[in-house]
Amino acid sequence: MAGCADAIAQFREVLNRHLRSRPTDYLVSFRALLSAAEEYHWAAVLGDFKDDFYPLDCPHCGVEITIAIGDYGRYSAIRDWDLGDVRRRGLRPAVAERLTGTGKWMHETAVRDGQVALADGISHLFGHAECPSCASVFNVADEYTSANRPVLRQAGSDGSSAATYGMSHSRIAAAT
Ligand SMILES: [Zn+2]
Repeated sequence: MAGCADAIAQFREVLNRHLRSRPTDYLVSFRALLSAAEEYHWAAVLGDFKDDFYPLDCPHCGVEITIAIGDYGRYSAIRDWDLGDVRRRGLRPAVAERLTGTGKWMHETAVRDGQVALADGISHLFGHAECPSCASVFNVADEYTSANRPVLRQAGSDGSSAATYGMSHSRIAAAT
């Protein structure tokens, strides 16, 4: 296993060097780096913030919220099939100095490599949003992560294994 960890560390270093050269496929390599860092959730869902939507449920009232981070706006809204995104509330991006953990690392890497749009999107993703329905304010990344990573979540206090949950989850998805 030590050899495996070494290989991953080397892979991360190679990716980091590649990212510093500001390649045209920056986002692809950035997501590969997230995978190498075992940030599988963000590796899978992170977009280029040109036209990205992050659906989640309000942690307080449960209403379905669409978080939009793109060129056309950065807001939380209720998605209406006829009217589009209604009751929009502007997102509250995180101040760079206040970011911690994964968000801080992702943001610092993007800034280091001059990826302005990516860094700005990350500060919104790891910032706060207001629920259009109940006006509670929550952390976007925290809610989106907890709502969308059942397969990769550590076995919870209820004793169910992540693998079992992931399987039943995909069965539900297949049935609907
Ligand atoms: Zn709410």
